[in-house]
Amino acid sequence: MTQGLITVSYIASTILFILALGGLSNQETARRGNVYGMLGMGIALVATMAGIVSGNYVELVAALVLGGVVGIVLAQRVQMTQMPELVAILHSLVGAAAVMVGYASFLDPDVQFTGVEETIHNVEVYIGILIGAVTFSGSVIAFGKLSGKIGGSPLLLPARHWLNLGLLLAAIWFGRDFVQSAHEGGGVQPLVIMTIIALVFGVHMVMAIGGADMPVVVSMLNSYSGWAASATGFMLGNDLLIVTGALVGSSGAILSYIMCRAMNRKFLSVIAGGFGTGTSTGGGGGAAEDQGEVVPMEAAEVADMLAGAKEVMIIPGYGMAVAQAQHTVNEITRKLKDKGVNVRFGIHPVAGRMPGHMNVLLAEARVPYDIVFEMDEINEDFPDVDVSVIIGANDIVNPSAQDEPDSPIAGMPVLEVWKGETTVVLKRSMATGYAGVQNPLFFKDNTRMLFGDAKDSLDAVLKALG
Ligand code: NDP
Repeated sequence: MTQGLITVSYIASTILFILALGGLSNQETARRGNVYGMLGMGIALVATMAGIVSGNYVELVAALVLGGVVGIVLAQRVQMTQMPELVAILHSLVGAAAVMVGYASFLDPDVQFTGVEETIHNVEVYIGILIGAVTFSGSVIAFGKLSGKIGGSPLLLPARHWLNLGLLLAAIWFGRDFVQSAHEGGGVQPLVIMTIIALVFGVHMVMAIGGADMPVVVSMLNSYSGWAASATGFMLGNDLLIVTGALVGSSGAILSYIMCRAMNRKFLSVIAGGFGTGTSTGGGGGAAEDQGEVVPMEAAEVADMLAGAKEVMIIPGYGMAVAQAQHTVNEITRKLKDKGVNVRFGIHPVAGRMPGHMNVLLAEARVPYDIVFEMDEINEDFPDVDVSVIIGANDIVNPSAQDEPDSPIAGMPVLEVWKGETTVVLKRSMATGYAGVQNPLFFKDNTRMLFGDAKDSLDAVLKALG
């Protein structure tokens, strides 16, 4: 393949990646966006293998087949509720790749630079390994937290800010040492020490972040993985990798900003850690402190109430993903619409366990996009809502975020469902949500509880609707 053809292919891939990102910004075009992304990656792979790789094809194809098979098996087996963990562990692989390419590129006797070029290359190697190692260890911890293998409460070491500052200064100091010694033929020792520092920093950074702030961490690590890929591109002198990494890095950074705004947090205070000190249960465990009586209801009563309503708002949360109740939700929606009820969906930006989690599930169940609204679009409409149905959501409808300044979720914008006429909450028990915070909504006069697995409860409601 000629250099010209490689360049053209790379430009085509870049354009396809940009179109993919554009497509993913809207549910209606998301599928097309994915196709553009796959096409771009296919072209990039072929151009790189045919044009840039010059040998070792057996190893290359073996690695491709192995990676491809692992990818296909994982994608087929993974449950929708495990997607966030999968994304976190995939980010860790990008970080690990950046570290390995960094070492390979530094130790490769064939990579010979002199003078300024050598310094620039060594700085690229150092920064690439630094970002890669932070991404790797941070993502592994995020995987542990999202899968519930590691507790959600933040680990708040004394003087943790000083520790972070110390690690940063040490990384800079060893960087200087590395560039100087690499010039004289050494450099491995400061590089290894920095790698260990970066790994410790990644672990400490994510361990210090509380359960409810995890959405920001997920998007932040997404961004880091992009920068790690971009740094790898600099090390290898591969323009496409630089651009692709920068696209992922900057879109991840924008997503982190959106997530911070959704949670009313400052990015720096999230990274500094300490928020969400409640005992997190990862969406399953700890019982809420008793705040009075709750009023349970039967599925048939809920069906009657829904059929008699004019305005219904459905608020899905993590429990809908656990129960896989989205298809039943869609059928109930269709039935109610046939009866002349106006049904809308209200989506909180951090509902579920990954950005866009609820939108993906509703799209899978073919809920029409035009009745799905973001929190900001519908939060003022609750006084006109007859029945709000909360399906396995908890933190995102917790009024203590507004009423209790000491609450770990204080300040986080929430869906103000309690302003409607009646709220029906579907969950299995009185357990808290991800942030481990009790929810006064359940004890309000106009709240009714429909206990049980959300899918079973909704199946019963659907049956009762006739
Ligand atoms: P929550 O975790 O607050 O609540 C989920 C509720 O669903 C639980 O209270 C649980 O109660 C219930 N539930 C679980 N399984 C079922 C089931 N099978 N049937 C019925 N109910 C069920 O979820 P929300 O979506 O309200 O809030 C998201 C939380 O996750 C926020 O704190 C957010 O910060 C955090 N988070 C979000 C991420 C993101 O990117 N979106 C990433 C990481 C964390 P019970 O056990 O009683 O059934």
